[in-house]
Amino acid sequence: MTHLQLLDEAVARHNDAEWSRQALELIRNDQRRSADTHLLRLDLPVLDGIDVYLKDESTHPTGSLKHRLARSLFLYGICNGRIRHDTPIVEASSGSTAISEAYFARLLGLPFHAVMSASTSAEKIAEIERRHGTCHLIADGSGIYAAAEKLAADLKGVYVDQFTYAERATDWRGNNNIAESIFEQMSREPHPVPTWIVMSAGTGGTTATLGRYIRYMRHATRLCVADPEYSAFFEAFSKGNLQATCDRGSRIEGIGRPRVEPSFMPNMIDRMMRVPDAQSLAGMRVLSRLLGRKVGGSTGTNFVALCILTSRMKAEGRKGSLVSLICDGGERYGHTYYNDDWIAAQGLDLAPHERALEAFLQDGEAII
Ligand SMILES: *Cc1c(COP(=O)(O)O)cnc(C)c1O
Repeated sequence: MTHLQLLDEAVARHNDAEWSRQALELIRNDQRRSADTHLLRLDLPVLDGIDVYLKDESTHPTGSLKHRLARSLFLYGICNGRIRHDTPIVEASSGSTAISEAYFARLLGLPFHAVMSASTSAEKIAEIERRHGTCHLIADGSGIYAAAEKLAADLKGVYVDQFTYAERATDWRGNNNIAESIFEQMSREPHPVPTWIVMSAGTGGTTATLGRYIRYMRHATRLCVADPEYSAFFEAFSKGNLQATCDRGSRIEGIGRPRVEPSFMPNMIDRMMRVPDAQSLAGMRVLSRLLGRKVGGSTGTNFVALCILTSRMKAEGRKGSLVSLICDGGERYGHTYYNDDWIAAQGLDLAPHERALEAFLQDGEAII
């Protein structure tokens, strides 16, 4: 009998213990069929002794780093007895998490509902629907949390709540989490312990895993978080204000939040940088040309902070390595970030930022 048949049989017998055993087995088998993601080394001879790496999270089956999170959240929900044989799954999302959760819900035969801001890219909505998820679009992006909670109550389902549980659903000490994987893949490089790891925050979950792992392993690596223009996280870090809010939704999908999410943990961050959106999208385009394929907007934010830290190390005559992430690919943003009309309508001018980044990457000219 296949596992899906065993799952059906457990459902027929309404045996939740048996159902959860089979569900965990299905997720484990899915993970066994998956490979780890690449750690790409950028070819930048001008940096001379500073090595820059990007962990390519766009190659997961659902196209972003949220594949890891969705798997962890399902394992957490099943092992806690919250997700059962007939549980409708509900999530508030800017899109990427919902795509990955729709994948795991489909794997287990559970109905899935995504509650998202109406500004979510059409490509992401189509991806969720292709995976048999239902999308509920809310005009005011800051209303997604309450709407998801209400929908879950109405459906007698589970509101997965990535923004609360991302930091605790992941095994941060090991279990091939993203931090352990990065340090393992770096182990035979010229500078195996990175001077900096750079990330941006959506839930803050990846940042928490990286920061905890660095401390746990007693590495000298420092953690820099890049925040987009419209986000409450920067103020939470710089002023210690966990009540900070931002009344405009972030333009960079996946990162920057209107409130300080419970999964965002400022204490393990060494530095935060606020990256203007025009610079993020310029970084996205410059990096896409360097790699020969398109990356997403948050990867641009990461890349700008990575270049600034690298530029400072170079100016100080230091050697070492830096690591950041490709969070997702650019194919989800064809109507927005890669559309010049959209960029112009936002009132953004990318050209000066593109020139500055390219002058740094080609000629080593410092960027400020
Ligand atoms: C979620 C997300 C991030 C941020 O990761 P967190 O672990 O949630 O902080 C960055 N980029 C994209 C595209 C994302 O979907």
